[in-house]
Amino acid sequence: MKAYMLVEKDKLELVDLPMRKPARNEMLLKVEACSICGSDLEGLHGIHPKVVMPVVMGHEMASTVVEVGADVKQFKPGDRVAGTGSVSCGRCANCLAGRRHECLSPLSPGFTGQGAYAEYFICTPHSVTLIPEGISFDEAAVAQPAGIANHAVTQRAKILAGELVLVQGCGPIGLSAMRHAKLAGAKVVSTDIVDYRCDYAVELGADVVLNAHRDDVRQAIMDLSGGKGADKVIECVGGAQDETIPQAVRCVKNGGLVTVVGSFAEDRATLPIINFKFSEKAIIGSQGMAPGYAAIFDLVLSGKMDLTALISHTISLDELPQGLAMMDTKSDNVMKVVVRP
Ligand SMILES: [Zn+2]
Ligand SMILES: [Zn+2]
Repeated sequence: MKAYMLVEKDKLELVDLPMRKPARNEMLLKVEACSICGSDLEGLHGIHPKVVMPVVMGHEMASTVVEVGADVKQFKPGDRVAGTGSVSCGRCANCLAGRRHECLSPLSPGFTGQGAYAEYFICTPHSVTLIPEGISFDEAAVAQPAGIANHAVTQRAKILAGELVLVQGCGPIGLSAMRHAKLAGAKVVSTDIVDYRCDYAVELGADVVLNAHRDDVRQAIMDLSGGKGADKVIECVGGAQDETIPQAVRCVKNGGLVTVVGSFAEDRATLPIINFKFSEKAIIGSQGMAPGYAAIFDLVLSGKMDLTALISHTISLDELPQGLAMMDTKSDNVMKVVVRP
């Protein structure tokens, strides 16, 4: 089968991988759609902390079940499923304490094992969710970043109606976080430094959209809140941590909460620690999508969230390098690129 292998830093090779039969507790899937994640760019450039090369990347996957092992009862050939294929180890302290989503050594397809930039993919049944009728493979792939935003907004930041929320970043996760916060009844200020991404935020319903390099974000937040600051800040930028983390702390109100969602390749950010301490502010992380796919599928089916609005390009597996390059340079107003192997 055809797959795109990251053989070393900045080197992708189209390879022919041997097919194998699924084991008793595994399923063989035909990959129908896999969207490109910002973390794939970090993987490509050799700066993602979890990517082990050589590896086939791709973790935002939607597939058709081709074959199931003898012990698999939940799914049958022909079923449509979405998931990352990630499985917890079942042996570490967190797994044994029942917190499998906080597993210390998960097998993560696309990072530490074969991912979905390939024609076929093998996974265990509990690592995927059935795609309900009425949701396309493309939407199901993009439901993964939307699920990350949902987890951050509803489980970690716990956004409430009436709150003023600053969402830093208008990429797929930032835009999804903005929409989840809007659904929760918050007033949302979205920021980015790329104009077309700001335009997306305007289109998708952010209350105020600012260019973080041209506008005075803190002043705008103070004006909107009567000098108090944002109730909460959700960081969805990653990368530019020297700018975003201090800005988040300065923009949040006394006693307010900053939730960090972005993906980072290194530890570097510093806090305005005096302000942070005296004003009793809090900063927490958000990882993964514990509430799962079902919450997102429900929102799509009830017409509350349009995931196709996040998809700017669909490409073939052969075009993966061009898709990654487009995301790298943010050319052609790229938002989410879906690969259809
Ligand atoms: Zn991702
Ligand atoms: Zn574990």
